[in-house]
Amino acid sequence: MKVLSVVGNRPQFIKSAPLSVALRERGIAEIVVHTGQHYDHELSQVFFEELGLAEPTYRLEARTRDVGAMQPGIAGAIARERPDWVLVLGDTNTTLAGARAAREVGLPLAHVESGLRSGDWSMPEERTRVEVDSYADLLLCPDERSAETLRGEGVPGRIVVVGDVMADVCLRLAPIARQRSRALERLRLQPGGYVVATLHRDANVEPPRLGRIVEGLNRIALPVVFSAHPRTRRALVRCNTRLREHVTLVAPLSYLDFAALLSQARVVVTDSGGVQKEAYWYGIPCVTTRPSTEWVDTVELGANTLVDDDPDRLLAAVEAASPLPSNRPPLYGDGRASQRVVEALCSLSR
Ligand code: UDP
Repeated sequence: MKVLSVVGNRPQFIKSAPLSVALRERGIAEIVVHTGQHYDHELSQVFFEELGLAEPTYRLEARTRDVGAMQPGIAGAIARERPDWVLVLGDTNTTLAGARAAREVGLPLAHVESGLRSGDWSMPEERTRVEVDSYADLLLCPDERSAETLRGEGVPGRIVVVGDVMADVCLRLAPIARQRSRALERLRLQPGGYVVATLHRDANVEPPRLGRIVEGLNRIALPVVFSAHPRTRRALVRCNTRLREHVTLVAPLSYLDFAALLSQARVVVTDSGGVQKEAYWYGIPCVTTRPSTEWVDTVELGANTLVDDDPDRLLAAVEAASPLPSNRPPLYGDGRASQRVVEALCSLSR
């Protein structure tokens, strides 16, 4: 069997790491197409080095988020390789370009992280999730809720609950991260004595939302480490946004440095999908700067507070946050999702 995986940005490099291992363990050939949606070293190459990812078979160097620009290169690779499965991950423009390319060539499509919904149609990610799920042949869900959503939508593909592949990486690497990373020393932070922040959603890196969220960060009494995408950094400069002294802007961190930082923080303030889940797995309370989330269970369990872009609510949620109880229910898998993905691909391959 041959699987062609389409990756192109930070969360996908991370998600693809345990999948590549699981495919290799089953002796399945994997062709990796890297669209080049993310091309900065700290958003791309650092993950290949740290997570031991194989050099992609195809590097398309798209250097754009434009779906139409990425699709032809992916379609070309699919047509040439004729894999048994095209595998796409998550909800980014690379996901959409990969899915459309598989459809264009007419080969089976599998979607990892299928069935997530925030209900917010203004987000490009939500529209991508719905479109990709509507024509994926195999829908690989992190939990029963996502599977139920897909059944409700009446999607034609086969639905399988596998768990979350990000949990596979997180559970395996978090202990190593805390041993190896020197990030806390470098940033002069004490475990439990700081807040981590990340921000990169389209709507949040534009005024007025950017300014309102930064106002909330500026009012936090603890040190704040703000890991900013290049796009976020450019927006901060463009909008002349002032960060107070206790807010330290850092370039995106490697997976291990970020895992060390997140897993020992007092609170995380984020608009990232992946970080909301990781915070839960690490037992760190999360404050999400969005009006909604696709990771609904984290909110229902009281582990995640949605504050939209309201600085007052952001501050109140940070101040009220307490560490998650150690007996919290497990969410989104047990660290063996990748093996289940491979099982599903093998059992359904034609
Ligand atoms: N992450 C990282 N370095 C950072 C910030 C985040 O390695 O400085 C990781 C984080 O641990 C998670 C992933 O990036 O695994 C989330 O990616 P991102 O927030 O870009 O995308 P999303 O999850 O929102 O699609």
